[in-house]
Amino acid sequence: MGEKAVRRRPGPLAGLLVAVVVAAGCMGGGLDQGEPEQPRPRQSGEPASPGADATRADGTTSVAEFKQDFSDAVGIAESYWTAQFRGSGEQFQPIRRVVPYTRSGEVSCGGEGLPRNNAVYCSAGDFIAYDVNWSVAAFRQVGDAFLFYLLGHEYAHGVQVRLGIRYNFTIQQELQADCMAGAYIGDNVRSGTLTLAEGDLDEFREGLLAVGDDPDQPWFAEGSHGTAEQRSESFFRGYEKSLDACGLG
Ligand SMILES: [Zn+2]
Repeated sequence: MGEKAVRRRPGPLAGLLVAVVVAAGCMGGGLDQGEPEQPRPRQSGEPASPGADATRADGTTSVAEFKQDFSDAVGIAESYWTAQFRGSGEQFQPIRRVVPYTRSGEVSCGGEGLPRNNAVYCSAGDFIAYDVNWSVAAFRQVGDAFLFYLLGHEYAHGVQVRLGIRYNFTIQQELQADCMAGAYIGDNVRSGTLTLAEGDLDEFREGLLAVGDDPDQPWFAEGSHGTAEQRSESFFRGYEKSLDACGLG
């Protein structure tokens, strides 16, 4: 019923680029402008079972294709979170806008111009913005499944704002967003909305291992996202067990 299968394209994994993607991928600033609500997300009982019959398309991964896939990911996120909130008797306000940009400073968040090579959720304007050229380069090298992780993670920051969740340490906020991204993907795979191709789970796994903080970085440092193991553990906890595993209260 209105399910939308998203076709996957394969792509070789480039760990270094992935590291750049997510390390820079989240400014996480200004997480204090939300309207607190307290829904209790529903749980989804079925185990993960990525479809083995996914269609995989070959060929170029163009800017247009990227924008389409990103737009699909946003639409799925809106439906997903709307359903979760509705399940708790709450109304979900989708993130207001998703803004692709190409130039440094073209888009501002809270009066600060966004740099190139970045993707962020900006709570000041309630939007997600991403450098489209940089994202397309990542898309080509890393593979498009990771796009859903990236969007899922940034979208989760918008949901945290709506839920009034604000932890003392960046790392808590980030690991929870990883878990929520995992739940968003896992639940949509279970419902058949999203179809993963063979190798996509490995792509997530290897990608997450590549985006961990430097082992020398203190966990409590501003900007810490978690070690590779922590990020991977959080993502797959959400992927396998849904939102109940993410500590949304
Ligand atoms: Zn983040």
